[in-house]
Amino acid sequence: MGELLKGKPVADAIAKEVKDRVQELKAKNIQPKLMIVRVGERPDDISYEKAAIKRMQGCGIDSQVVLLPADISQNDFIEKLKSVNNDESVHGILLFRPLPGQIDESIVKHIISPEKDIDCFNPANVAKIVEGDKTGFAPCTPRAAMEILKYYKVELKGKRAVVIGRSLVVGKPMAMLLLEEDATVTICHSKTPELSKLTSEADILVAAIGRARMIKDDFIKEGAVVIDVGINVDRDGNICGDVDTERCREKASLITPVPAGVGSVTTAVLAKHVLKACCLANNI
Ligand code: NDP
Repeated sequence: MGELLKGKPVADAIAKEVKDRVQELKAKNIQPKLMIVRVGERPDDISYEKAAIKRMQGCGIDSQVVLLPADISQNDFIEKLKSVNNDESVHGILLFRPLPGQIDESIVKHIISPEKDIDCFNPANVAKIVEGDKTGFAPCTPRAAMEILKYYKVELKGKRAVVIGRSLVVGKPMAMLLLEEDATVTICHSKTPELSKLTSEADILVAAIGRARMIKDDFIKEGAVVIDVGINVDRDGNICGDVDTERCREKASLITPVPAGVGSVTTAVLAKHVLKACCLANNI
């Protein structure tokens, strides 16, 4: 029976390290600050915002929310985002996406400067992940998955990794981060034929699909490490991942639960990114 890779100890360890370093910065009169920009009242955004604010408080990081109406015009949105970006007291900016349809993401993604873009919206940070440039910021979710693998000492070098999903928020950056650690990486998606044949060769399997419990035990190699990034609501209204955890546990050696897995590490990574942005801004 595979061991559950719980996110909480990982998040606690990251948060403690961040808190200690924030104390050192405060002793030098430097106060890290996160600005959250939320457009509208989507419940998922609000619940992540609450969790993020609590995490920042726990780490000694200031946070503030700019709330904009869902029907804001593109011009007004750009003006607001520019003013947040130009605020020198702000080190990191988290912008909830997707943005409403009237706002063209291909234009606004350039506004948050790469140094403050702690969740990897700006293409400059996407490029840095591909280049392996450590001054960039990967999106918090794939970075959280990597933190779990690191915390539980999962060997990645030379291993076969399969990532299901190719979004810019999870799948693609996840593949790049695994490649950076010398895994041999395959990316799968909805047009991949014989998906289970590929996934059942993976030492490390990452599911970032958005389909409740789609990954069954016949997708899994005996002894594989399974990282479930999915957050779905099943027919009974329960939160579940992309992996059928109970069935896959029989074969996997290590497996992240949902909830209490990857999702519970993302706010700690967010705090780590604000700290890093603050250090970069102060040449530390
Ligand atoms: P997207 O919808 O943007 O991407 C889903 C990917 O899965 C696409 O690449 C799609 O392929 C692929 N896919 C869909 N169906 C299949 C299938 N039947 N077989 C193989 N591949 C398939 O989702 P995101 O990347 O934004 O998110 C993925 C999951 O992660 C979601 O459940 C989301 O809720 C969760 N998530 C969790 C976070 C956390 O903090 N834990 C944060 C962000 C997301 P194609 O490109 O061909 O369409």
